[in-house]
Amino acid sequence: MQFGYSEVCLEHDPGSRHPETPDRLRAIRERLKRKHGVEYVDADPVGIDTIASVHDRAYIESVEQFCADGGGDWDPDTSAVEETWDAIRHSTGLACWAVDAALEGASGRDTPFSIGRPPGHHAVYDDAMGFCFANNAAIAAQHALDNDEYDVERVAIVDWDVHHGNGTQDIFYDRDDVFFVSIHEKGLYPGTGNIDETGEGAGEGRTMNIPMPAGTGDAAYLAATEGPVATALETYDIDLLIVSAGFDAHRHDPISRIRLSTEAYALLTDRLRTVADNCDAGLAFVLEGGYGLDVLADSVAMVHETFDGREPIEPDNGYSEDALEVLEAVCDAHDLSLEF
Ligand code: ZN
Repeated sequence: MQFGYSEVCLEHDPGSRHPETPDRLRAIRERLKRKHGVEYVDADPVGIDTIASVHDRAYIESVEQFCADGGGDWDPDTSAVEETWDAIRHSTGLACWAVDAALEGASGRDTPFSIGRPPGHHAVYDDAMGFCFANNAAIAAQHALDNDEYDVERVAIVDWDVHHGNGTQDIFYDRDDVFFVSIHEKGLYPGTGNIDETGEGAGEGRTMNIPMPAGTGDAAYLAATEGPVATALETYDIDLLIVSAGFDAHRHDPISRIRLSTEAYALLTDRLRTVADNCDAGLAFVLEGGYGLDVLADSVAMVHETFDGREPIEPDNGYSEDALEVLEAVCDAHDLSLEF
């Protein structure tokens, strides 16, 4: 894979006890050293106009000023230092680079994966939250839609981070041109992402939430991806698929109770690649959360290996009645008749 990476993203330091630490990127880089076919690309930072394409301009200017004043705690979870503003601009720039690369034909072993930070998927239209200031994946999606040369009309963002991608949902909730899917742990921060949140107005049906019960493992995530997610996105006929790739649903992540194995990330990658291929769509990955440093690094390496030709190993276990009920309710909410 090509990894979008910038040293500037290490400078955003929310404090030594904060889980969203620069060591996350160091751990990923250390693990990828042992892999072949890894290429790093830096990208230009974006300007405020690009961020304001999906965020309230007054809000994002206040973030710039907050950092210029030395930063501090924006809220109890979300902290900045002076260098955070540049890290935000680079993190978003890397996400836009990933989309550019995908739409310019980078695929297979060259598939782009932006490993910027701070992450983005909790950042709503006019506020920072949950470690996120600018919604990297949302800005990258808008960047693709706004570039006439790409001829992109329909974008999907699939968010497999263990937390609901409330920011991305907020930004695109009433729009027809971005289909947002979030598969997350029910009841976890920030508490949104119920099945009946399906979009509104022109965006009705263009948001799909799959809130899985604590304890859910690989098989149910795979069934969700192969079933309602693949069916909905192939029917919608996407031009671009952005994966909001957090790795905190791993069973060894310290802050969640979803029980994915490292192998799950190979399986999900493989199935989403198939969706992109079936739609002849570009495919780009953008890093979100993931706080167990070893399993974060292992899981990112697993995504890389999948594009490097490794065949994923199919799960040999089933899933719970609770997870089945979620899958059936998601299908009901989206008028999909699928058998599980
Ligand atoms: Zn998360």
